[in-house]
Amino acid sequence: MIDDKKVLFSGMQATGCLTLGNYLGALKNWLTLSEEYTVRQDPAEFRQKAKNLLALYIAAGLDPEKNCIYYQSHVSGHAELAWILNCFTYMGELNRMTQFKDKSAKHADNINAGLFTYPVLMAADILLYQTDVVPVGIDQLQHLELTRDIAQRFNAIYGDVFTIPEPFIGKTGAKIMSLQDPLKKMSKSDENPNASIYLTDDRDTIIRKFKRAVTDSEAKILHREEQPGVSNLIEIYSACTGKSFEEVEKEFDGKGYGDFKLAVGETVADMLTPLQTRHAEILKDKAYLDGIVKNNAEKAQYYANKTLRKVQKKVGFNEKVR
Ligand code: ATP
Ligand code: MG
Repeated sequence: MIDDKKVLFSGMQATGCLTLGNYLGALKNWLTLSEEYTVRQDPAEFRQKAKNLLALYIAAGLDPEKNCIYYQSHVSGHAELAWILNCFTYMGELNRMTQFKDKSAKHADNINAGLFTYPVLMAADILLYQTDVVPVGIDQLQHLELTRDIAQRFNAIYGDVFTIPEPFIGKTGAKIMSLQDPLKKMSKSDENPNASIYLTDDRDTIIRKFKRAVTDSEAKILHREEQPGVSNLIEIYSACTGKSFEEVEKEFDGKGYGDFKLAVGETVADMLTPLQTRHAEILKDKAYLDGIVKNNAEKAQYYANKTLRKVQKKVGFNEKVR
């Protein structure tokens, strides 16, 4: 957000506790680079989830002095820009979004307009800050493509208003699969807790979940399409250790699934232990957390307003007399 630096923007929905997928696919890359509407949420629980998420960002190593971390709901510009961008987005485009199709199939009793237009809000989130780079998991690439299309469409009519953002996808961990169904992505809103590793799971739980992970009947530790379960575990192990798939295959050559699953579980638990210790400490300091979001929301609102005023002027809204 500082003028001579590239703007990097990303976010998470406070729909649940962060999973290993969110960490390896997104959060971990935010660190490297910076040196719902479907389910009704219980309001009190939702607030707590958002606070938990904020503390996890900091525990994972995002420095709140260098990164502007805030709650989206504290910056009104997101909703205001989203409305304008809605008028530059086609129903046909939103209908094609796989996240909308997946989530509406899962919650057929509550397919609301918010779920349908969610990608436009995400576009507003990104475009509001003239973002250059958006670190996301593979599942969000389609939404980012749509963001680019909306921005280019707007720019073609009104001139260079928006920066066209580029996605950043990590080499490994960009699509961690469910431990219970390796053909489905790991998701924090999955009802089955055994499908995901949550960043706050204790050591025993992590090891138990990996032990129970669905694997194939082949009993060979190889990364290949026919073995999605084992391939997912190799991917996780590789993302946590920095070893290549070949190195992992060699390391476990001749060993059984039991040994391999235990090694993956221990590695993930070791990686998460320091993060969990910091998380518990940060959560205790309510004043610290409140201070961060307050200061950062003000800063974010300032930059958001710059873009919003420009957009409003371009489309012909009357300026407010000050
Ligand atoms: P929900 O089930 O509520 O949609 P989610 O787990 O998909 O939750 P999001 O808040 O939608 O999480 O996404 C936050 C970030 O995490 C995005 O950048 C997304 O691409 C990334 N992400 C989500 N799931 C995975 C995954 N399984 N592997 C890698 N990255 C992921
Ligand atoms: Mg998601």
